[in-house]
Amino acid sequence: MKTMKQEWIEFWKKMARMLDTGIPILATFETIQKESTQPAIEETCRLLLEEVKAGNTVYDALVRLPQYFSTSMLKMIQVGEMTGKLPESMLSLAAGIEEGSFPVGPSEEGMGTIAPAEATDQPVPESDLPIINIAANILYEAYHQKASAIHIEVLSDAIQVRFRVDGALQEIASPPKAVGPALINRFKIMANMNVSDKRLPQDGRIHISIANQLVDLRISYLPITDGESIVLRVLTAPVSLPNLDRIFKADHLATLQRWLKRPAGLIVVNGPTGSGKTTTLYSILKSFDPVQTKIMTIEHPVEYRLAGVCQQAINPALGLTYPAALRVAFRQDPDVVMVGEVRDQETVSILTEMALTGNRVLTALHTDGGVQSAQRLVDIGVEPHLLASVLVGVISQRLVRQICPHCKAEIKVEPWMREFFPKGGRPKLYAGKGCAKCNGTGYSGRQAIFEFFEPTGGILRKLTLDGSTLAEVQAEAEAGGLKTLRQEGLDLVAEGVTTLDEILRVTPNDP
Ligand SMILES: [Zn+2]
Repeated sequence: MKTMKQEWIEFWKKMARMLDTGIPILATFETIQKESTQPAIEETCRLLLEEVKAGNTVYDALVRLPQYFSTSMLKMIQVGEMTGKLPESMLSLAAGIEEGSFPVGPSEEGMGTIAPAEATDQPVPESDLPIINIAANILYEAYHQKASAIHIEVLSDAIQVRFRVDGALQEIASPPKAVGPALINRFKIMANMNVSDKRLPQDGRIHISIANQLVDLRISYLPITDGESIVLRVLTAPVSLPNLDRIFKADHLATLQRWLKRPAGLIVVNGPTGSGKTTTLYSILKSFDPVQTKIMTIEHPVEYRLAGVCQQAINPALGLTYPAALRVAFRQDPDVVMVGEVRDQETVSILTEMALTGNRVLTALHTDGGVQSAQRLVDIGVEPHLLASVLVGVISQRLVRQICPHCKAEIKVEPWMREFFPKGGRPKLYAGKGCAKCNGTGYSGRQAIFEFFEPTGGILRKLTLDGSTLAEVQAEAEAGGLKTLRQEGLDLVAEGVTTLDEILRVTPNDP
C-alpha cells in the first residue's frame, strides 16, 4: 500500500508526463482518477474535471481545495499556467513533496499560507517553502540573463549574489540575509551534496529543465571564514552547441576542415578558462558523423553529454588518471579522441603515439598562442623530431565583449591609440556609454576571436632545433601569414564591434 505522500508524488509526475506527451488535459484527469486509490486524489480529479470542462483553469479548481493545496503549491501551478510550463511546475511540486518541503494533507485547517521570504528577518528553517522558490528564481534569472556562472557568498551578516554575464561579474538583488544558509543548503540538496558537512569543499552537479531547456550546472561548495561560498557554473546543454559555421568565419572554417580531413594528428584548442574552448572542442566533435566515427572523450569532469560519443570522466582517487584512461581508450579502436587536458609526459607520449598511428586527437592547452602551444608540447615531452608529424594545427581563442548597440558612441582617438593601427590611418573608434540595457557596462554580448596556427616544418625546426627565441619564431610565423589574436581583435575595434581597451585586456602581447 502506497503512502499518501507517494500517491501525491505520482499524481503530479503522471500528470506532468501525460501533459508533456500531448494527452488532452481532460483525458489525463480521467485516467488518473480511475487509477487512484486515495479519496483525496479522486476528489481532486473529479473537481478538476468539472472545473476545466466549465472552462476554468487547473489553478481555479485547486484553489477550491485548500485542505490539500497550500498557497505556495497553488502559486506554482498558477505560474506554470501563466508561463505555459505547467508540466514543469507539476514536476517541481512532485520534487517538493518528495523532499518534504510541501507537506501533504489532509489537515484540519489546510496548510495555511507561508509568509513571503522578504517578510522575515528571522532565520528561516530549511524546510520552508520560499527557499525553493528563491533558488528557482535565481536559476531562472541567471538563465535569462545568459549568465555563465552564479556566485553566492553567505557570511554571518551578509549575502551576496552575483551573475557572471559576458565574462564580467554583476551583483543582483540579493534575497534577505536570513535565508542565506538555507539557500546554500537548497543548492547542495539539488546537487546531491552532503548538507551537514560544512567543513570541506564539495563538488556536485545539477541537471534541471529551465524554460523547456535542459541545463547542466556544475556546482562548487567552499566553506570560507565566517561563512560559505557556492559557485554554480552554467554548462549549456548539448542541444545549443553551435555548428562550426556559426563559430568560425569562412577562411578559418576552410582551414579547420582541411585539418579535420587529415586522417591522423593532433589539433590543439588553446585559451584560458572561460575562453569558450570547450564549446569549440565539442562543436568539432559534433561535426563528425557519430555512426561512421568512433569518438571518445576523456575529461575531468565530463562537461557536455554528446549523443553517440563514449565519454569518460577521469577519477584520480580511483587511479583512473589521464594516462590510464587514455591507454584504455587506445585499445577501444577510436577514430577521434578528445583529451580534456595534457600536462604530463606520460599523457603526451600516449597522445603522440595515437596521433602517429591513425587517430585524430584533440586537446586543450592554456598558452598565449600557437607558437607557444607548440613550444609547450615540446616542454611536456613531445619528441622535437616528431612534432612536425604530430601537430596539425593550433586554434587559439578569446572571447571579447561587444559594444552595447543601445549606447554606442564614437570616442575621441588619443595619440597612443593610433599606435595600434596602420600608420597614417584615421581609425574611428567607439565605446558604450552605459545604459539600462547593458547594466551600465557599455557592453552587451560577446564574440570569439581566433588565431589559426598551422606549423610548417621550417617554423618547427626553428623552434626545436635552431635555438631561436620565441619572438624570432613568432616573427617568422607572422611573416608567413599568421594573424595573431591581437591583430584579429584590432580588426574588430576598427569595425566598431568592440573597444581597444577590451582587446588590450583579453589578448596577449606579442612575445
Ligand atoms: Zn548600453
